[in-house]
Amino acid sequence: MSALPEAIDNHAGQGVLALRWADGRTVRWTHADLRVACPCAECRARRRAGQAVEAAAELRIAAIEPVGAYALNLAFADGHRRGIYPFEMLAGSPN
Ligand SMILES: [Zn+2]
Repeated sequence: MSALPEAIDNHAGQGVLALRWADGRTVRWTHADLRVACPCAECRARRRAGQAVEAAAELRIAAIEPVGAYALNLAFADGHRRGIYPFEMLAGSPN
């Protein structure tokens, strides 16, 4: 499938990031689920150690920056901004 989303809609009020893909699917991630799934080395190490990465439901994305043509760098209101989220990951199910 195409690597790039056709549209990225950030619904800040609801705390939902919606990505529409070429196959017609729209995948909706909550900001909190994205924070919990943060793929940065620090968060991965934490999960490997059996510690959950936690996020309040009210946590919001503070900034979205494209990384090349393959990922988004998401900065969160809790100050965490290391996560580089590949489109391949974002195209999958939030769960
Ligand atoms: Zn992280």
